[in-house]
Amino acid sequence: HEAGGVVLSARGLVKRFGGVTAVNDITLDIHAGEVLAVIGPNGAGKSTLVNLLSGNLLPTAGAVSIENEDFTGKPAHVVARHGLSRSFQTPCLFEGMDVLSTVKVGAHLRGRVGMLRSSVPTRGALREERELDRLAHAVLERLSLGHLAAEDAKNLSLGQQKKIEIARALVANPKVLLLDEPCAGLNKAEKKSLLVLLRQLGREGIAVLVIEHDMEFVMAAADRVHVVNFGATLKVGAPAEVQADQSVIDAYLGV
Ligand code: ADP
Ligand code: MG
Repeated sequence: HEAGGVVLSARGLVKRFGGVTAVNDITLDIHAGEVLAVIGPNGAGKSTLVNLLSGNLLPTAGAVSIENEDFTGKPAHVVARHGLSRSFQTPCLFEGMDVLSTVKVGAHLRGRVGMLRSSVPTRGALREERELDRLAHAVLERLSLGHLAAEDAKNLSLGQQKKIEIARALVANPKVLLLDEPCAGLNKAEKKSLLVLLRQLGREGIAVLVIEHDMEFVMAAADRVHVVNFGATLKVGAPAEVQADQSVIDAYLGV
């Protein structure tokens, strides 16, 4: 399908940690309705790149914008409020919190829920909370996690925890979704359903960036592939084009 306008744009991103240049001048656009895969060897800078895009890290240089509005240096909660949701490489769930509440945190992060704004819940805020319950249940059903709504999130398998992270990201109704290695820990059937979900999200117009090592998944899920090596862009192109590229094979696929 045809991708839409640019939702998330990064220009010349650089991130140094002391003497290590983790990200070295990366420029990319993610379009509405597009699934962009970011691949590359361990330590190439993929997670750092996502952290720069989401406002979880400050860039050393470069700029990030969402729909032409500059968000460079803005904290993650501000970026989230403007439509960017993400998951983390290591699931980040809270012990003692049930799955439904965990998922609802995603909408609170987006800052759309009245309960957070006033200490005395108003009728409007309670209505919003009920609306949010319905939305969270719907997202859980969509990810086939409905039966786990009351479960303590920490009791779930890694695969289920990763899906709950995605549910939490989706409940905020994002324009752009960033997923850091969502397939790690998933079995074949779970990968397949994640693949179907990402394609659906693309068709709904969400801009999706997914870091992933599983090449079979990348080839099936991605509209475009951005290869990162030593913090820099090695190649950007259609999946088949990238897979056949000798420099990509040498740096990543051949090993
Ligand atoms: P990838 O996700 O591609 O495996 P990362 O972005 O995690 O790579 O890491 C890129 C490089 O930056 C690595 O050399 C890593 O050790 C370094 N790095 C990442 N985060 C930090 C940090 N918070 N402090 C220092 N070095 C870091
Ligand atoms: Mg990583």
